[in-house]
Amino acid sequence: MRWSEHQQALLHEMGLRLWWPAGPNGAATAAPAALSEPPAAAAVPARPPALAAAPPPARPDTVPADAPPTPAAPRPQPPAAAPRPAPITVAAPAGAAASAVAAMDWPALRDAVAACQACALGQTRRHTVFGVGHVQAHCMVVGEAPGEQEDQRGEPFVGPAGQLLDRMLAALGLSREAGGAGAAADPARQVFIANTLKCRPPRNRNPSAEELATCQPFLERQVALVQPRVILAMGRFAVQSLLGSDEPIGRLRGRVHHWHGVPLVVTYHPAYLLRQPADKARAWDDLCLAATCLAQAPA
Ligand code: URA
Repeated sequence: MRWSEHQQALLHEMGLRLWWPAGPNGAATAAPAALSEPPAAAAVPARPPALAAAPPPARPDTVPADAPPTPAAPRPQPPAAAPRPAPITVAAPAGAAASAVAAMDWPALRDAVAACQACALGQTRRHTVFGVGHVQAHCMVVGEAPGEQEDQRGEPFVGPAGQLLDRMLAALGLSREAGGAGAAADPARQVFIANTLKCRPPRNRNPSAEELATCQPFLERQVALVQPRVILAMGRFAVQSLLGSDEPIGRLRGRVHHWHGVPLVVTYHPAYLLRQPADKARAWDDLCLAATCLAQAPA
């Protein structure tokens, strides 16, 4: 895959270096001066063309209990080309409220989130943060919880982590916004971004298990309504909510999991990447894996 100059500039801005596979005569193809360093441990591979031909992961929806730690970056495994799954239906967890949420359409769901007082976060939030993007996006991004700026604006990922997320998505040709002025909204190019929690935990503390469980029906209903072709779960709370796993991200990333039949790719949270920029290369591998899922998803 060749990157446009725009995409190269975005990757460069993310702190990612590209290298180019050998050309037909064995020589490396020319790269822009700023990006032409040879591959190093943290260098970013362009999406390998061989991905599509490699075998599927053995049990993509489960994590072996005895899986060894993987301190070295595992190479992303390709998804199997699978038939498009049947529409997602999620059995509502016990409780009248949860089963009501599982039957809501978009307007009802928005209203329910906006009015929610199911946990104490309802007392301290300024705004609920429902989510943003195309309601039939092929790619759905799931983060953790609103921070201060998100709480102020009622939109997910508007702070520094969100700016990094936007740059990462843009490098794949994806955006939370509809295309330019007058352009028709395109579910293949516009993502839907949601969080596990719709309200900000005070002082940005971690979500509690109870808060995650209380808010989970909202997230599940969002995914069921979007019916994405791939889910990008960013950070441990998204993984906890969707995969029910406490495994570290480093052990879960690099292969395709499934949520109710939908391919799910685990990656680092952008806020973590701001603190640990060395892991941006791994995150880029994860995004490429998600892009491969999209490319292979049945229309
Ligand atoms: N981090 C998240 O996970 N979500 C946001 O909306 C903002 C920061």
